[in-house]
Amino acid sequence: MIIILLGPPGAGKGTQAQKIEAAQGLVQLSTGDMLRAAVAAGTEVGKQAKDFMEAGKLVTDEIVVGIIADRIEEDDCREGFLLDGFPRTVAQAEALDNMLDHKSLKLDVVIEMKVDDGALVNRIIGRYNCGNCNQGYHDENLKPKVDGVCDNCGSTNFKRRADDNRETVSSRLESYHAQTAPLLPYYEAKGILKMIDGMADIDDVSAQIKDVLGALA
Ligand code: ADP
Ligand code: AMP
Repeated sequence: MIIILLGPPGAGKGTQAQKIEAAQGLVQLSTGDMLRAAVAAGTEVGKQAKDFMEAGKLVTDEIVVGIIADRIEEDDCREGFLLDGFPRTVAQAEALDNMLDHKSLKLDVVIEMKVDDGALVNRIIGRYNCGNCNQGYHDENLKPKVDGVCDNCGSTNFKRRADDNRETVSSRLESYHAQTAPLLPYYEAKGILKMIDGMADIDDVSAQIKDVLGALA
C-alpha cells in the first residue's frame, strides 16, 4: 500500500506515521527526517538544504524528489510505504506520479489531516523527539510514561528541532498554504483524497485513519 499523510506542520503526520509503521510494518518516509539527517551528517544535500530549513522555507523540488526517488528503490519499500511531508508542491506530486508510473505502482490514498492554524503553534513549540529512536513526544499532549525516559527504547536523551520556534512557524504555515494546499484539489480530482479531523486527540485520529485504511482493504 502507498499512502500519503498530508497536512500542515504540526498536524500530527509523524506521530501517526510512527503508529502505522509499528502496527502495519509499512515503512515511514519522512523527507524532513531525511533532510535533518543530511544536515547533521554535513552531506552536500544537507549543506544545500540547511538555510531553507532554518528559515522555514521549502527545500528545492530537485533535492527532495532526488531523495525520494533513491529511497523508494530500497528493499524495505517493496511492500509499499507511507509518505510523511512529501509531496509538498504540485511539481513534487507530478514527479511522484511519474516515479510510480515507471514502477507500475499506484498511490492508494492521500489522507488530509485537517488542523486549525491556531492549534499548530502550540503543537510545534511543545514537540520533542527521542534522540536515539526518534519517537515523538509533546510537553503537554504526549509525555513519556516515565518522566525523561523514552517509552520505546529507554533512552534518556531527547532532542528539539532547530526550526521548531515561533519565528519559523509562520513562514512554514505560509509555505503550507501557498505551496502545499494546492495538492488537495490535485488529489481530489484523482478521487483518492480522504479528510480526517486532526484536531481530535491522538488515539481518535489513529482510529479515523484506521477506518480510512480499513475501507480500502
Ligand atoms: P507533523 O509531523 O505533522 O509536523 P507531529 O506528528 O510531529 O506533526 O506532531 C506535532 C506535535 O503535536 C508533536 O509533539 C505531537 O506529540 C503532537 N500531536 C500530534 N498529534 C496530536 C493530536 N492529535 N493532538 C494533540 N497533540 C498532537
Ligand atoms: P518537516 O519535518 O516535514 O516539518 O520538514 C522540515 C523542513 O524540511 C521543512 O520546513 C522544509 O524546509 C524541509 N522539507 C521537508 N520535506 C520537504 C519537501 N517535501 N519539500 C521541500 N522541503 C521539505
